[in-house]
Amino acid sequence: MTIKKGKFVIEGLENVQINIGKVIEEGVDGQIEGPTPKPEITSLRNWDYRILDRYNPVYTPTSDICDYCTYGKCDLTGNKEGACGIDLEGHTARQALMTSIMGAACHSAHGRHLLHYLIKRYGEDHPINVGPSNLKAPLTETIMGIQPETIGDFLPVLAYVEEQLTQLTAAANTGQEGSARDFESKALHAGMLDLLGMEVADIIQISCMGMPKAEEDTAMAEIGMGILDPTKPVVVCVGHNIAAPAYILDYMDENALFDKIEIAGLCCTAHDMTRYNKTAKIIGSMSKELKYIRSGIPDVLVTDEQCVRADILREASELHIPVIATNEKITYGLPDRSGDNVDDIVNDLASGKEKGVLMLDLEKVGELVPKLAMKVSPIRKAKGITALPDEGEFAKLVAKCTKCQQCTFDCPQGLPIADAMEAAANGDLSQLEVLHDKCVGCGRCDYSCPVKIPVLNVIEKGAQRVIREEKGKVRIGRGQIGDPEIREEGRNLVLGTTPGVIAIVGCGNYPDGTKDVHDVVEEMLKRSYIIISSGCAAMDIGMYKDDEGKTLYEKYPGRFIKGNLLNTGSCVSNAHIAATTIKVASIFAGRKTKGNWEEIADYVMNRIGAVGLAWGAYSQKAFAIATGCNRLGIPVVAGPHGTKYRRAFIGKPYKKDDWNVLDARDGSTVNVEPAPEHLMITAETFDEMMPLLAKLCIRPSDNSLGRAIKLTHYIELSEKYMNKMPDDWHVYVRSEADLPVAKREHLLKTLETEHGWKIDWDRKKIIAGPMRKVDVSFQPTNVPRLCKEVSK
Ligand code: SF4
Ligand code: SF4
Repeated sequence: MTIKKGKFVIEGLENVQINIGKVIEEGVDGQIEGPTPKPEITSLRNWDYRILDRYNPVYTPTSDICDYCTYGKCDLTGNKEGACGIDLEGHTARQALMTSIMGAACHSAHGRHLLHYLIKRYGEDHPINVGPSNLKAPLTETIMGIQPETIGDFLPVLAYVEEQLTQLTAAANTGQEGSARDFESKALHAGMLDLLGMEVADIIQISCMGMPKAEEDTAMAEIGMGILDPTKPVVVCVGHNIAAPAYILDYMDENALFDKIEIAGLCCTAHDMTRYNKTAKIIGSMSKELKYIRSGIPDVLVTDEQCVRADILREASELHIPVIATNEKITYGLPDRSGDNVDDIVNDLASGKEKGVLMLDLEKVGELVPKLAMKVSPIRKAKGITALPDEGEFAKLVAKCTKCQQCTFDCPQGLPIADAMEAAANGDLSQLEVLHDKCVGCGRCDYSCPVKIPVLNVIEKGAQRVIREEKGKVRIGRGQIGDPEIREEGRNLVLGTTPGVIAIVGCGNYPDGTKDVHDVVEEMLKRSYIIISSGCAAMDIGMYKDDEGKTLYEKYPGRFIKGNLLNTGSCVSNAHIAATTIKVASIFAGRKTKGNWEEIADYVMNRIGAVGLAWGAYSQKAFAIATGCNRLGIPVVAGPHGTKYRRAFIGKPYKKDDWNVLDARDGSTVNVEPAPEHLMITAETFDEMMPLLAKLCIRPSDNSLGRAIKLTHYIELSEKYMNKMPDDWHVYVRSEADLPVAKREHLLKTLETEHGWKIDWDRKKIIAGPMRKVDVSFQPTNVPRLCKEVSK
C-alpha cells in the first residue's frame, strides 16, 4: 500500500481514525541541488555582502531623531549614538529592514489567508497547475529546494516564511542588531521572503480558481472611471484578496445578475476579479479610491486587504454607501455580523441603521453584496447622492479661492491648484482636467484650504468630461511565463540581442500622472524591449488610446518575446516576473535551482538584462518587492517619491575594484564595466529615467551584437530625453563591434579625440582604450566557489 496524505480507518477498528499529515515523498529531499535550501537569516549573508560591497547603501533619512523606544527620543546628528548605542546609519538601515518585513508580511499573510481558504474549499491535494511549465514554482524551488505538486505542499513554505519573518522582526527590537550592513542583509532576506510569499499566493489562486495559466492571449478587461453604468446598482471591491469577490462573482453568475449589477474593482483585487471572471471591470489604482467614492457612484463597497484607505468607512458613510469588510486585517470597528441572517443585514444596511459590517463568512458575502446593491441602489440613486458640488456650488467654490497656495504647498505633487481654480472661475476647465490625472487622490488639500474649499471634489467636478471618457483596456493577467516561451527567448536575453526585459510594476504614486507609464512602455516596446507589468502600473498602461482608439495592450501582443507587452496580473503576480529570470537561468543555461539562490542570483546579475521600474511606488510592499529583486540580482528604478524609502543601493563606477568579477572557467579576476551600475536607485525625472533603464539592462556577458543593440538604445534615449550623449557610453565599449552600427565611424572618432583611444582607421578597429576585450566564452561570476579553479 502506498501511504498518502489524508485519513483512513482500519477494518475492525472503525472507531480509530489515523490522520496522515505531511508525508516526505521520495525524492523531494533528495533533489536539493544547492547549498542553501530554506536559508536562515545568515545563510546568504556572504551573497548579501557581495551586493552591499558593490552597491553601497545610500541613506536619505527624513529625520535624524530616533524615537523607537522609551530611551528616546535620541538625537543622532553628527554621528552621535542613541541611548541604545545605535547611530543614524544603523537606525536608517533598521527602518529599511522594517519596511521590507512589513511588505513581505503583507504578501505572505495574503498568501496564508488564501491558502487556508483554498485548502478548505479544494483540499490540500489539489494539484498545482500554472500552465505549460516543468518549473512550476521557480522561487519555491530556488529558496526551499522542493518542487511542490499540490497546494498543500505550500504549507511548509509559508511556515518557513512566517518563521523567518518572526526572526527578522525580533532583530529589529531595540538592543538587537547594531550593524547597518547586517540590517541590510536582513532586509534583503525579507525581500526574498516577500517574493516567495507572493509566488505561493498567486500559484494557489491560479491553480484553484481557474485563472489564466501562462496564457499569452488573454481577454481584454475594461478599465477606467468612465466604464461603469451609474444607472445600475454598482458594487466596488477594494483591495487585493480575491477570496471574497469570488463569492460575489459566483453568486451573480448563478443568479444571472451581470446585466443587472455593475461590478468592478479598485487596486489589485480588480486584476484578480477579471482573472477569475472576465465580466468584471477595473476602475483603477488606489489613487482612484477617494475620487470614485466621492463620485457617489458605488452603491456598496467591499473591502478586503492592502491599499484600502484608512478613511474609507467615514467617506462612504457620508454618502450612505454601506461598507462590507471581509478580511480580519481591516475591520474598521464594524460589528461582526458573520453569524447573522443575510436578509437582516441587508435591511440594517439599507435603512442606514448600520454604516457597514464585518462579514468573515465569505459565502454570505457572495449573497449579501448583490442583494444589498439591488436594495440600496434605488434609494441612493433617487436621492442623487454625491460628494461633488453641483454647477452652482462649483462656480461659487472656484470663485472663493484666495490663491494663497497652501494646498499646493501641502500637495505631495505640488499641483498648481490655484491657477486651475482661477481658470475654472473664468469658464476654462482644462487645467482641472489636467490636474485630475496628476492628482494621486490623497485628499490632503481638503484639510489645507483655509477657506474650506473641498479641493479634490472641485477637481473631480471640473474634470467630469475627461472622467466620462476614461475608458481603456487591459489584457487580463496571464500568470507565469511558460517554459516554452523561455526556451524561445532565453538565448536572446542572455546574449543581449533582445535589449532587455523591463518590469513596469508598483503603485500609482506617479510624480506627474499616469501618462508617463504609458509613454515609457510605448517607447521601450518600439525599441523591442520586453515589457512585463503587474499591479497598478499594469492598469495605468491601458488607460490611454492612440488616434485609432487602441490601447497598448491592443496594439502589442503578449508573448515573452521582444517588443511584446505582458501583464502577469496583480501585486502577487510580481513573483512571476522575478521568477522569469530563474527560469532563464534554469531552462536556457541549465543552472540547478533547488536550494541554490546564490548561484541563480549571480547568474541573473551578470547575464540577464532585466530591470524593474516602480515609477509610482508608495507602499512597504513595493519596497519589499524591489529588495527581493535586488537580492536576485535585478536592479530597480523608482520614481522621485522613492527617495522617501530612505535607502538606495548605488554603485560607484569610478571605484575600479568594485567591478572585479571572476571568470568561472579559471577563477581569474576580470575588471568589467559597471553593469548593472546600480541595484536600487530613484530617477528624479522621466527624462532621466529613460536612458537609465537602457543602461541598467547592460550586463558583462553581453555579446558584441547584444552590446551594440543596448548601447544604441542607451545613446539614443539619452540624446532624445537628455539632449546629449551619455557621459559614460564609452565605458561599455570593449571593441569596435560593440558600437552601434549606424554611428560606428562617428563614435570611433569620438573615442579617439575625446577619450584618447587608439584607432586603426584602415581596418576601423580599436587598438587601445577599452578596459577589456570581448570574450564570447567569458563566464562572469561574483561567487568564488562557482569557479572551476580559483586563482591564487
Ligand atoms: S488630493 Fe490631489 S490635489 Fe489634493 S493634495 Fe492630494 S494629490 Fe494634491
Ligand atoms: S488653499 Fe484653498 S484658497 Fe488657498 S490656493 Fe488652495 S484652493 Fe485656493
